[in-house]
Amino acid sequence: MSTAAQQTGGRTSAPTAIIIGGGVIGCAAAFELSKAGYACTLLDKGAIHQEASTAAAGMLGAQVEIHQPGPFYELCRQSQEIYKAWIDELEQIGGVTAQYIGKGILRAALTEEDELELRSRLSWIQNADWMKPEDMRRMEPELSAEVRGGLHFHADHQVHPVWLAKSLGAAIVRQGCRIREWTPVFKLLTEPGTGRICGVQTSEGPLYADIVVLASGAWSPALTGPLGIKLDMFPVKGQCISVKTGAPIIRSTVFTHGCYIVPKLDGSYIIGATQAEAGFDKQVTVKAIAELHGKAAALLPRIEEAEFISSWAGLRPGTRDGLPYLGETSELPGLIFATGHYRNGILLAPVTGRIVAQIAAGDKPLEDLKPFSPMRDSAKATASL
Ligand SMILES: Cc1cc2nc3c(=O)[nH]c(=O)nc-3n(C[C@H](O)[C@H](O)[C@H](O)COP(=O)(O)OP(=O)(O)OC[C@H]3O[C@@H](n4cnc5c(N)ncnc54)[C@H](O)[C@@H]3O)c2cc1C
Repeated sequence: MSTAAQQTGGRTSAPTAIIIGGGVIGCAAAFELSKAGYACTLLDKGAIHQEASTAAAGMLGAQVEIHQPGPFYELCRQSQEIYKAWIDELEQIGGVTAQYIGKGILRAALTEEDELELRSRLSWIQNADWMKPEDMRRMEPELSAEVRGGLHFHADHQVHPVWLAKSLGAAIVRQGCRIREWTPVFKLLTEPGTGRICGVQTSEGPLYADIVVLASGAWSPALTGPLGIKLDMFPVKGQCISVKTGAPIIRSTVFTHGCYIVPKLDGSYIIGATQAEAGFDKQVTVKAIAELHGKAAALLPRIEEAEFISSWAGLRPGTRDGLPYLGETSELPGLIFATGHYRNGILLAPVTGRIVAQIAAGDKPLEDLKPFSPMRDSAKATASL
């Protein structure tokens, strides 16, 4: 088996990287690696941007999505802090905007239980204020009279996920990244003797590189399992609908238990999202649309006047403990894990790209990666034997 160095005949050239997966995480990794001088090849089993990343709503919900303080909250906040500069850079390089909207999120309580849960977050959450019902309706007059108050997350902004994907795609192509669509990776290749990951076996034959980035979303365990690394990951199906109204009825994202309505720059609203473990099924069901409609109308009655545009489903890369897998392992050197971002991959894309590039450079990432260790499930499985 030849290695990347052998393939280049030992000549001094740019270091090489293979990125498996053309969602936001793979593209963010490719963006940072190419900036760091890597010659990147990004592989996808289908067309890029066709899975979870473009099924998302685009909220950058570092506060609204997180229910307890800890390392994951800190990781989300780090990504939120660098987001605006990151998408500005993408736009500057690739010329495509991610359609950022900086209007925050109103998380409204419609039940006493929900109100109590939201109030309990006030002891630790940052960038959030409690709002009385009348103050919420002053901000968003069309909110239901049933709203009991809620939290205003004033730093939780949003992008359009489809435009973020286009923006990332344009930026990485501009930086020279080679994109190979319809090229599934069947297995990771190890260097005989060292066990180092040196490439991938694809439908087009073997490909070799100095580093390989695992960013294949919900499909990731199939690649690491045969090499003894168990990732406790599974697809979590989320269904959404998109609607539009003549004149805008909200300006901020409004969110209640189990439902959000995210206004976009083109006058449409994404209403999401259901959540179910249903394997790799991506069918949209009448039941899910009815459920979303019911919840959205309870929060924002005038949404009933909206025109239906479309519906879709995506597969979140879920993990048993809700945390992503980030970093390297001594068991599979040469492989950088960047997967399992579950409900927050749009938000976590910039910090993940930065972490991948720091590891590739041999630097210690700024973030503490221990809680996100790719070995944590294998360690648990061994301990329970
Ligand atoms: C309905 C819904 C709403 C969401 N809303 C939000 C939100 O508001 N904010 C937020 O931050 N996050 C949100 N998310 C979560 C977010 O979309 C995901 O966390 C994120 O998209 C994961 O990105 P990814 O690149 O890891 O995965 P994906 O986008 O799924 O990309 C993985 C890619 O890998 C490719 N691949 C897989 N296996 C192989 C292989 N063997 N060889 C080659 N290619 C392979 C796939 O084809 C795919 O293109 C939402 C998700 C859903 C479904």
